[in-house]
Amino acid sequence: MTSRPNLPAIAETPWALDAGRVAERELWLLASYAFPSRDSAGRVHPEVEHPYRGPFARDRDRVLHCSAFRRLSGKMQVFTGEMGEYHRTRLTHTFEVASVARTIARALRLNEDLTETLALLHDIGHPPYGHCGEDLLAAAMEGNGGFSHNQFALTIVTELEQRFTDFAGLNLSHEVLGGQDTRAHKAEAAIGRAPLLEVQVVDLADSIAYDSHDVDDALQMGLIDQTELRRLGLIRRALEGVRKKSGELPPSRLRQALVHELVDLQVGDLLWSASETLRACQGLSAEEIRGGGVRLGHSPEVAAERMELESYLFDAVYRHPRLMSVRRAAGDRLRRLFDGLVANPERLPLRFRTRANQVGVWRAVSDYLAGMTDRFCDSQHLLFTQQTAGPLTDW
Ligand code: MG
Repeated sequence: MTSRPNLPAIAETPWALDAGRVAERELWLLASYAFPSRDSAGRVHPEVEHPYRGPFARDRDRVLHCSAFRRLSGKMQVFTGEMGEYHRTRLTHTFEVASVARTIARALRLNEDLTETLALLHDIGHPPYGHCGEDLLAAAMEGNGGFSHNQFALTIVTELEQRFTDFAGLNLSHEVLGGQDTRAHKAEAAIGRAPLLEVQVVDLADSIAYDSHDVDDALQMGLIDQTELRRLGLIRRALEGVRKKSGELPPSRLRQALVHELVDLQVGDLLWSASETLRACQGLSAEEIRGGGVRLGHSPEVAAERMELESYLFDAVYRHPRLMSVRRAAGDRLRRLFDGLVANPERLPLRFRTRANQVGVWRAVSDYLAGMTDRFCDSQHLLFTQQTAGPLTDW
């Protein structure tokens, strides 16, 4: 019979897991190649340990409780609020990613707290109007340092969020900041030294979630139909799985069953493939895994089918005429606001006028606009174009 570590009885301590117990619990639960809390390099501003939460559980809560996280509820993922009530927002997408990532992390015995934190953080830097907003800001900031939502997420959690009286930012652990930094430099992360497995899992969970829920949303909105989807290998594979589990379903129930199966089969394939990879890594530490360039991924068959699905979604959904017209109008508003504020920085809210003195007008305008929700950006655009003087509102 396996022996268990000696956890204290509840009566001995008011909390079952003090910081030392978190480390002990991880030692018991995590694989050798998971990243344990005890190896954390800490924070820029040292803090005493929390009595019953490990460092990454604290990071997760800091992200969850920050204002930029709440604003995700007002940011579009792919489709705007004008296009219906069914589809995902940036916030619900984030929770779906966290759910998928946590499931994968638990199955692979990786650090769930670290994984969940990275997942909740991963899209926090998205500007309003989805990818259209990001493309527009990237073009507007060309020659002035550019714009990437992954980089802006780091600006939010290290500079713009105010949680402590003595310094700016959330003071997150180095591993969380490093993981997000890896996302901001994906090309470098794809070769040589590999990102932590927890970082890789979030990246994979992100694409599993959006590929599946974009199919769901686009079908529900009638942008695509099931007949054309059946041309795709991954869809056929998922439909076969549905048929085996539930028999023939009416079209009304088929969409949900299909999307559920799409997530399930991709997660299952990833776990199967990752387990094969990690079998050869038993006993290795997270550091050794990174140095060895170990990367998780799908089986070659599913990877090819996912590429086919993503290429289809790009043409049939992300470039759909209904979406393109909404994107163009949103992009025009954002561009007008960007150019107008660069030319009239006195109309920035006080916090961003001050910030312009530190980072320059262009970056301050970009930060101000990127932090907005879709609707808030609409309202400030209206204010800017209808009112000839006075600063706009801070978010
Ligand atoms: Mg995402």
